[in-house]
Amino acid sequence: MIIVARKNITADQIDYIRERVEAAGLRTHISIGETRTIIGCIGDEARLAGVPLLSIPGVYSVHPVMRPYKLAARDFSADPTTVVRVGDHGFGGTKCLVAAGPCSVEGSGMMSKTGRAVAASGASLLRGGAFKPRTSPYSFDGLKEQGLKILARIRSETGLPIVTEVMDPRDAELVASYADMLQIGARNMQNFALLREVGQLQRPVLLKRGMSATLKDLLLAAEYVMSRGNMQVVLCERGIRTFGAETRNTFDLAAVPWLKKETHLPVIADPSHAGGRRDLVAPLSYAALAAGADGLIVEVHPDPETALSDGDQSLTFTGFDDLMRGLAVFAEAAGRSL
Ligand code: PEP
Ligand code: MN
Repeated sequence: MIIVARKNITADQIDYIRERVEAAGLRTHISIGETRTIIGCIGDEARLAGVPLLSIPGVYSVHPVMRPYKLAARDFSADPTTVVRVGDHGFGGTKCLVAAGPCSVEGSGMMSKTGRAVAASGASLLRGGAFKPRTSPYSFDGLKEQGLKILARIRSETGLPIVTEVMDPRDAELVASYADMLQIGARNMQNFALLREVGQLQRPVLLKRGMSATLKDLLLAAEYVMSRGNMQVVLCERGIRTFGAETRNTFDLAAVPWLKKETHLPVIADPSHAGGRRDLVAPLSYAALAAGADGLIVEVHPDPETALSDGDQSLTFTGFDDLMRGLAVFAEAAGRSL
C-alpha cells in the first residue's frame, strides 16, 4: 500500500499515520520528496482493510499494490490457465468447449432430442435450467428436482456432462447431486451465501458475470468460491447492462482478453444472453473465440418459437450445427481446436 500525503502535511500527522499503519502490523517507509511525501506500507496490506486511511488528516490518496483477489489472480498459478475438468473435458485446455441446450428444461422429450442433436454437432456439455431466475414471479421458473432428474437421464443417454443453475444455497447439495457443473447466474453473482455454499462443494462452478458487475467484482466473486476451497471456477462473460436498447445486453468483448491476462481461471462467453437475438449468436461466438475465450455456452431449442423462456435467442438444431461448423476456423486462428 502506498499512501500519498497532502502537500501541507505536518510532522505530527506523518507520525500519526505511521502509528496507525504500524498498529495494524505493517512497517512503514517514509519518502520525503520536493512536492510530496509518500508513506510506503510494507507487509500484508489486507490488514489495512479496516483502517479508514482516507479520513486520516494529511492523507491525500491511497494506492493498493496487491490485487484484492489473491487466489484468482494470474500470478497465483504457474500455468497461464488452470484447466477445470468436467467429465472427460477440461475448460482451459487446447480444446474450446461448447455447452449447449435450452434455457429451461421443459420436459423429457425436448431434452432428449436436444441432447442428441447438440452431441451430434460437437457440444461438450448439455445445459438446461431446472431452477430458473425469472424477472416476473408469474413466469415459468423451472421443473426443479424433476428437471434435474431429466438432465441426469439425458446425461446417461448422450454421455454429455450437465451444467445447470443453482439459485438458492439451500438447493446447492441437491443440484450438485445431479449436476456435473454448477451454474451461478448473473443475478446471483454477488449472492455471497450461495458463493460460499458452492465453495464447499467439490463441483466445478460456472460463474456468470452480474449484469452490472465490473470485472473486478467478478474476480472477487470467484475469490469467494475459491477461498472456501473450491478452485474449479470458470468465468463467463454474458453481456452487461448499458444504455443501448437494441440488444438485450452489451457484449463486453474486451472482458475476454482482459480476464485472460488478469486471472488463470478459464473464461467463456454466452452469446445468447449477450445479444438476446438468434441472428447475433454466431458473430458474437466467432468474436469470443477469436479473442481467446476457452469456450461458449449457447441456448438451443428444438422449437424456439414455443420455448418457455428465451426463445428469441435460442438456436434451432440446424442453426447450432451451422454455428459449430463456422466456429472451427476461429478456434484454429486462436491456436485451439473445437
Ligand atoms: C441462463 O443461462 O439461462 C441465464 C439465466 O443466464 P444469466 O444468468 O446470464 O442471465
Ligand atoms: Mn436463458
